[in-house]
Amino acid sequence: MNYKAITPRVWHMEEDYRDYCTLVRGSKLAILWDTGQGKQDLRDFLEENLDTPYLVLNSHGHDDHIGGNHRFPTVYAHREDWHLLASHARMTTGEPPAYDVEELNPGMVFDLGGLHGRVISLAGHTRGSVGLLLEEEGILLAGDGLNPTLLMLGRESAPVSILKETLRAVQDLPFDRFLASHYPTLQDKKIVRAHLRHLDCLRTEPPSHPGPYGPRICRSIHKDPEGRSVIHIDRALL
Ligand SMILES: [Zn+2]
Ligand SMILES: [Zn+2]
Repeated sequence: MNYKAITPRVWHMEEDYRDYCTLVRGSKLAILWDTGQGKQDLRDFLEENLDTPYLVLNSHGHDDHIGGNHRFPTVYAHREDWHLLASHARMTTGEPPAYDVEELNPGMVFDLGGLHGRVISLAGHTRGSVGLLLEEEGILLAGDGLNPTLLMLGRESAPVSILKETLRAVQDLPFDRFLASHYPTLQDKKIVRAHLRHLDCLRTEPPSHPGPYGPRICRSIHKDPEGRSVIHIDRALL
């Protein structure tokens, strides 16, 4: 497993090309944040590298974050994205998920021993996207919820009004940097302000030619002093 210790307690692991899971290790409990495409045996890796119990959490229900869920007996995910876990299991096995799914709700706090992980809402990219604020590290694990290139692609995404509420709330949280699931290094929180300003001047005309996500998806770019925000958005969410 190719991984980088972002801090001694936070390992960012490249499960597949540019597809990262994160392992957070407290003194009495660990958290595996996402399970990637399912190509590598993360359970084996955890059992070799941990001397504590661990929990498995999904940042959201997209295939590239839940692909290894089947290796574990229980996974936590936000209820709004459970249908995505179910359709992934049906597509890959023809059956409902073979593992138990527990609710993962904003406001929950996991005490890992010397380190606390607080669940926060990142509704937008999907309705059930959540982040994990590692309070003592000042780092947010953000899944795909704050990516500098933010995808708002289909029925599982929330309307723009919800995304705005999410980003405003995130601005007030006590962290400076975040880990995103398709980026190897820590990202600066400033991009949240750039996304918010972008949403006030979003270019929503139909694309002149279909981009990689099809004819309904607008691609809007905003160059902001705080960073370059790119948003691909389904016009139905406006
Ligand atoms: Zn996603
Ligand atoms: Zn993703």
